[in-house]
Amino acid sequence: MSDKPKLAQYWASSCGGCEIAVLGLHEKILDVAGAFEIVFWPCVMDFKYADVEAMADGAIDVCLFNGAIRNDENAHLAHLLRRKSKVLVAFGACAYGGSMPGLANFTDREAMFDWIYFHSPSTENPGNVRPEMRTTMPEGDLRLPRFWNTVKTLEQIVPVDYFLPGCPPEAGSIEIAINAIVSGQLPPPGSVIGSDTTVCDECPREKLNKKVKRFYRPHEIIPDPNICLLDQGLFCAGIATRAGCNARCPQVDLGCRGCYGPNEGVYDQGAKLIAGIGSMIDADTVEEVEAILDTLPDPAGYFYRFHLPQSLLRRKALGNGKKQPKTEPVAATR
Ligand code: SF4
Repeated sequence: MSDKPKLAQYWASSCGGCEIAVLGLHEKILDVAGAFEIVFWPCVMDFKYADVEAMADGAIDVCLFNGAIRNDENAHLAHLLRRKSKVLVAFGACAYGGSMPGLANFTDREAMFDWIYFHSPSTENPGNVRPEMRTTMPEGDLRLPRFWNTVKTLEQIVPVDYFLPGCPPEAGSIEIAINAIVSGQLPPPGSVIGSDTTVCDECPREKLNKKVKRFYRPHEIIPDPNICLLDQGLFCAGIATRAGCNARCPQVDLGCRGCYGPNEGVYDQGAKLIAGIGSMIDADTVEEVEAILDTLPDPAGYFYRFHLPQSLLRRKALGNGKKQPKTEPVAATR
């Protein structure tokens, strides 16, 4: 064991992009390797959960935890790494706000399993096999973690010290966070490590009066490269998204999707976007409003793409809005 600070990185319910993003540091990854002793990073080295369990509480100086919490295994690791880590960072949009996995909160586990294992056009499942938590084989029992009905953020499971937004966090944001950790110049606990402004503030496009008669999908028009995309009827979440990416998507004609989460002072990014987009609708009648909104497909996906579990809504109501039991039933066999 060296006397360097101990670093852990873990991947819960996410796509793996956060792990790749660390490699986006390029040669600066060597500085990370030089500054820290990596004690747990299952994506790149062979570590076992037992290795972490054997550590003393607080033995890890910094844990970068990416991914939402969607099953018992994710939650177990969240509790374990919280106990073993002095500083726990919700790394990336999934750990911070639930992100893409969190969009599953618009439905529920049974509906998802039915679609995925029985009804989707690409499913071939002649034996009607459905995943079970325990399968007995000649070699012994095979187990799967319990799959939750509701996706949660890391902070909804354990206390979190810092949040590093982004899907994935840009290399510049990671560098700022790593430097702050190494130098000990961290913001107050509970802070989002990043800018206080919005993507619009760092976007070079000219802003006009933001009044639209219809929305377009990206393939429907070739936008003016200098004018705000929203002014041209292309959805852009930059108005309610924390800066830090240097307006990377708007700079290449793609609307911001909101992956850095709500800007400072905003709790519900989706509600803020609804308010912002609502104020742009250039209509005189209810029918006109509806016609314009019909040109914006999948508004729930646009407004809550990265922050549904962390929003005021959190999820679609279950059981006709009746309170659900805290312990969710085991996935039933078919
Ligand atoms: Fe803001 Fe998007 Fe317009 Fe840029 S293109 S100014 S990020 S709304």
